Amino acid sequence: MPDLDIDTKYHNQTTNKLEWRCKYCPKKYTVNGGTRCIKAHLKYSHEVTELSPRAEKAQKRQRSIEEAMVAGTGNPQKRRFFDVIDNDNLSTPSTLNPDALEVLYVNMVASCNLPLRFVQCEAFREFIEYLNPTGNALLPESHTKIQEWLIRQFQAGKEQTKQLLQLVRIAIHLSLDMWTSTNHLAILGIIAHYISEEGTLQECLLAMKVVNGRHTGENLSQYVLQVIQDYGITSRLGYLQMDNASNNDSLIRVLSVGMSFLLLFLYSS
Ligand SMILES: [Zn+2]
Repeated sequence: MPDLDIDTKYHNQTTNKLEWRCKYCPKKYTVNGGTRCIKAHLKYSHEVTELSPRAEKAQKRQRSIEEAMVAGTGNPQKRRFFDVIDNDNLSTPSTLNPDALEVLYVNMVASCNLPLRFVQCEAFREFIEYLNPTGNALLPESHTKIQEWLIRQFQAGKEQTKQLLQLVRIAIHLSLDMWTSTNHLAILGIIAHYISEEGTLQECLLAMKVVNGRHTGENLSQYVLQVIQDYGITSRLGYLQMDNASNNDSLIRVLSVGMSFLLLFLYSS
């Protein structure tokens, strides 16, 4: 199997030599002790550099912060007077950006499954105060404000996905699956798969709909139609991929009827 690990070598039975095969392209190198050529190939052809796990993590962290800065600047919020850093009154001017801080805090709450009230945890606040008093001052005191932040970031992310999907020239394919959450909610997950402008295969989560009522194809198709319309991808819908539960057959039947109406409406208006 081709590998990215430069220390992984394979025995080529035809040439009777050890070789290294690239994971990203058909390139092969006969291994004769050194790894210079392999490293150069990975760096210049695929921008893959050899970093220690620690350096890789640091780089990933830095990238997340930069992305949060971009997302924050692209979606600035009006803040109350005391939520804005007053650099004139600080002994060392702060470089903290309140909008990026909001993006990063929401990311943390979502990826670590933290309760909204975590922001009110005294030990956490003391820890942040110790690291950076301005950062602590910028964090809300109330969990309802965190809920507001979460909804705002969700909407900003959704808007970004919508804009991204508008750029897709070819079909957008969907995969659907039903599952039950740990708190016993029936959830329909909808994921889009498409080829980006750069020509790479991409996927993104479009929705996780809580399904009310029976799990019939008729009922489920309404949720799917809603998402297709919401993201404005009616005219570019490609294949649908799902498991072979019988209600999925009727889902497709009802969906195709609904789609015909939508397309008719789209092209006649
Ligand atoms: Zn390669």
